Amino acid sequence: MENTKKYAIGIDLGGTNLRVALVSSDGEIIKKIKEPTSDEILDALFKVVGNVFSPEISGIGIGVAGLVDRKSGRVLLSPNLHAVERIDLINEMRKKFEVPVFIENDANAAALGEKWLGVGKVFSNFVLFTLGTGIGGGIIFDSKLLNVSAEIGHMSIHADGEKCPCGNSGCLESYASARAILSKTVSALEKGRESLLREYCGGNFYKLTTEDIYRAALDGDSLARELLKDAGRYLGIGIANMINLMSPEAIILAGGLIGAWDIYVQEAIKEVSRRAFKELYDKVKIIPSLLLDDAGSLGAAGLVFRSKGISE
Ligand SMILES: [Zn+2]
Repeated sequence: MENTKKYAIGIDLGGTNLRVALVSSDGEIIKKIKEPTSDEILDALFKVVGNVFSPEISGIGIGVAGLVDRKSGRVLLSPNLHAVERIDLINEMRKKFEVPVFIENDANAAALGEKWLGVGKVFSNFVLFTLGTGIGGGIIFDSKLLNVSAEIGHMSIHADGEKCPCGNSGCLESYASARAILSKTVSALEKGRESLLREYCGGNFYKLTTEDIYRAALDGDSLARELLKDAGRYLGIGIANMINLMSPEAIILAGGLIGAWDIYVQEAIKEVSRRAFKELYDKVKIIPSLLLDDAGSLGAAGLVFRSKGISE
């Protein structure tokens, strides 16, 4: 009776979007808000969270794109969201809203979300990939979030590869992420490659999205098909590495790029079948996320309930 509060706010703070959800302890989303990530991160958070905050809220969970130090709650490195490295997110949010605040890497939060409410429920061991602007990862091992960095997007897959915002070169996300696909598309178009994409964007290549590229590929555009297949092949290398390393029961794929499943992910699966140990490949399921864009904010809200022993 002591604590009747059973709502939490889950925040998914990514390089492109900020998603905030008001979530009940049984995982129902009562309200959600999405807006583009601003450079003024704290002001934006105070405003959006302020709009859904009420005395019923028992805590705030934040999933943030970057390497999180769980002890201090600081974001040590965020290649796609540098502004967050300078903020003491936990303490600032605690001061403002006077409730417990929890922080986790965004892809780890998404993995927790899938384990709690999504396709991950039935698996004890899985690896989740978030395929968006960058590539993130979260690992559930023995039904618990494995407390490791799981920066899957920054595994090296090319010895003399392209420079990555993390400082390394040849990282998976420089070849298989939405940003990688878009930048290769723009450079191919600038070099004069024929493509339906020229019509789609009315000459402004920077307006193109990965949805446009998938649509062009389905319409038979050879450049679009080639770019998606190429990125998918690299994704497959990354997935095969994780399968050989972790022998998971499932690989769960989340993020905007899974919209291009039939070309991009199918190509990845082909590559996995060539590279992963056959015994491991035969057992693993490669499946899409169920919670999609909500996985991160639900998992972040789950951090609050988990601390109170309600979920998991
Ligand atoms: Zn990198």
